[in-house]
Amino acid sequence: MKKLLLTVLFTAFAALLAGCAAPGPKIDTTYVARGQSDRIKFVIVHYTVGNLPSSLKTLTEEVVSSHYLLTDTDPPFFYALVDESRQANHAGVSNWKNYTLLNGSSIGIEIVNPGFKDTPEGRLWYPFQPAQIDQLIALLGQIVARHHIAPENILGHNEIAPQRKEDPGPLFPWKRLADAGLIAWPDAGRVAAQLPQYLAQLPDPAWFQKKLALHGYAVPQNGQFDKATQNVIAVFQTKFRPAKFDGQPDAETAALLDVLTTPAGVVPTAAPAMPAATAPSLPSQPQPSTPSQPPVPPQPQPSAANPAAVESH
Ligand SMILES: [Zn+2]
Repeated sequence: MKKLLLTVLFTAFAALLAGCAAPGPKIDTTYVARGQSDRIKFVIVHYTVGNLPSSLKTLTEEVVSSHYLLTDTDPPFFYALVDESRQANHAGVSNWKNYTLLNGSSIGIEIVNPGFKDTPEGRLWYPFQPAQIDQLIALLGQIVARHHIAPENILGHNEIAPQRKEDPGPLFPWKRLADAGLIAWPDAGRVAAQLPQYLAQLPDPAWFQKKLALHGYAVPQNGQFDKATQNVIAVFQTKFRPAKFDGQPDAETAALLDVLTTPAGVVPTAAPAMPAATAPSLPSQPQPSTPSQPPVPPQPQPSAANPAAVESH
């Protein structure tokens, strides 16, 4: 009897509390809008410059960050540092087509690679491990499927910030991503067919600037082969014609640009083949790094005031 009385009193007290609480918003989910899309539109590929321990420290303890860090261990694997639903600070001030500050609309992948070394014989670039690219292709396939990323929106950091960045550099094997059906690639036959007209008559600077902008780059439209325009041409060349990336306009660059900005000239991408054996590995156990990198250069020290503008390397 006493227990029953207590129960009645408790129930009455709970009802009183519920009556005092502010009512929650009343939401009707009957209708769903057509005009919506995934917030993630881009994947941006970087190299770290720093070795694995320093990169891991920077990307986890500083303001800069990336969603994934691909190691240079044997075998390589990914550290997942930021959930894909959240923003990482890797892209910095950046542009692609009508998008700016791509931290808010992209997934950032840092690959442990030293970048380059300047020597008396010229600049030497460090190659990526084929096993790293195998892992990258496997993860990209999953990200594309999760977020419906367009083939033209898998980009290098240098493409969205061509005046400041070199990464992932001329040795990053974009063609392997194209062969995996992840990015669009200019059809070789179409390029060969366009080449003679550009060998006979190289287009003027305004033509190059217009085509580069159409492709997606932020590039001046002043009709001049100025330094800024040459930087953009060099970035384009490192991706599609890495044998020569001096930023000088030439017939092959013109033919590549022509084909890439003409929809019929782009090889349609196939659905990425994702056999289970090539699934990206995301172990939680730290593994030893390969201590073969040159000294780590100073990392950028961005302000936390505007996370949208913060970048990793
Ligand atoms: Zn970068």
